[in-house]
Amino acid sequence: MMTTVQHYIHGELFAEPLTSPSTPLFNPATGDESGNVPMASEETLRAVLASATTGAVTWGSSSLSQRSAVLFRFRELLVQHTDELASLITREQGKTLADARGELARGLENVEYACGLIEHLKGDFSGGVADGVDVHSFREPVGIVLAVTPFNFPAMVPLWMLANAVAAGNAVIVKPSERDPSAAIHLAELWTAAGLPPGVVNVIHGDRHTVQSLVEAPEIAAVSFVGSTPVAQSLYETGTKLGKRVQALGGAKNHMVVLGDADLDVAADAAVNAGYGAAGERCMAISVVVAVGSIADDLVAKISQRIDALRVGPGDDTTSDLGPLITREHRDRVASYVHGAPSEGATVVRDGSAETDRPGFFFGPSLLDHVTPSMRCYRDEIFGPVLSVVRTETYDEAVALINANPYGNGVAVFTRDGNAARRFSRDVTVGMIGINVPIPVPVASYSFGGWKDSLFGHAHMYGPEGFAFFTRGKVVTTRWPQPSDSQIDLGFPRTR
Ligand code: NAD
Repeated sequence: MMTTVQHYIHGELFAEPLTSPSTPLFNPATGDESGNVPMASEETLRAVLASATTGAVTWGSSSLSQRSAVLFRFRELLVQHTDELASLITREQGKTLADARGELARGLENVEYACGLIEHLKGDFSGGVADGVDVHSFREPVGIVLAVTPFNFPAMVPLWMLANAVAAGNAVIVKPSERDPSAAIHLAELWTAAGLPPGVVNVIHGDRHTVQSLVEAPEIAAVSFVGSTPVAQSLYETGTKLGKRVQALGGAKNHMVVLGDADLDVAADAAVNAGYGAAGERCMAISVVVAVGSIADDLVAKISQRIDALRVGPGDDTTSDLGPLITREHRDRVASYVHGAPSEGATVVRDGSAETDRPGFFFGPSLLDHVTPSMRCYRDEIFGPVLSVVRTETYDEAVALINANPYGNGVAVFTRDGNAARRFSRDVTVGMIGINVPIPVPVASYSFGGWKDSLFGHAHMYGPEGFAFFTRGKVVTTRWPQPSDSQIDLGFPRTR
């Protein structure tokens, strides 16, 4: 059955006029066209901005207890609707159902954190900072937030943004990826069912033109973006030039360093799980394994053996370990890195090309050895099930490699030496570090963010920094003068 995806405006589904352009939607596991996604027209954009303007006023003046009640109800609905959300994710994104449930569980964590909004939005008070003078601070919502999200986490990334932005009293316009837009719509329906007033969460479909128009719209106060580095950088520049606050998370090239004393079975398991899980389409996926010293041959052999046991197949088949890639074009691009590796001097230990013979956008787990930093497969974010092994002689060389890389999202070290691990966490120029943990996505009470080309702007996503990003602070200095305090004093106010 072909689906025509709708927008979600002012608490209900909103059909784009048929005259507007659209883009096809595919089931990546079959390769079949499954529907189409409308590109929002100018009229639709005006409608969504008007709705969000109303939503921001209503919700921004709601009491914290009212917001908290909605958040708790939304949390319950998210749990109740996990299975259907997971099916939607698998159908459009391709990842396995187990992985889709994992994505939802991590999104739920963010909602649970935001349920504590009464605590998170507490201000400060200092009594008697000067004679008869008190100071207190509080935070207010920024207004309307534009949330632009990538294809690889169609529910979790919207929840990273929505949970804290809504808890903080903002209206949000979500622009999900046009490749898998339905999960965001379902989330918006659940927000309405939880009692959120119309206009607070809207979902609008479109492409780069839609995003550009919304970033430039004067109604938008803040832009929260997750996606590829060139788009992150360009939206950051456009938004900040217009005086808006922007947090723009970009791409990644995550390294996993295996030191000579590591348990190689544990390290090989981790490399396979983090490199091939979700077909490598995770921003925190391991892409480069750095083998330090003499362990490289053994490590490569252990990773290669484990690949034999992996099953590639549709995400809704419970025996599949990894599903298809998002589009045919992306699959072909991923394949080109494996096919091009020998001409650059790398060794292809495993080539997943055989999986391309079946329908759908599949590519099998691939392993490249003797990769060096000048090679295309090292320089680019591949975003597929391809692990590259770089061999270094020393720890210092491994750290230098990581620090010279333009990306700085996640990194991991595998070792049994606590001191080496501690030193590593200080030495690397990367935002999220795993010690014997290959995918160190912080829990919801810490914030998520990379360094260098993996994040434009200073604010990390969700957690305490999420609340800070979605609110503006005010500080009030108060004095209640008595008639006896009357005096003329043109000096600068002093506290002593
Ligand atoms: P993408 O940059 O192509 O698209 C992301 C969003 O931006 C989509 O909604 C898309 O419609 C929109 N968009 C695309 N081009 C645009 C343009 N020129 N102007 C304005 N908007 C535009 O990313 P993707 O392919 O959907 O997602 C994969 C990328 O996202 C990878 O690079 C991955 O590393 C990154 N990612 C990063 C994180 C992180 O936390 N750092 C998390 C998930 C994904």
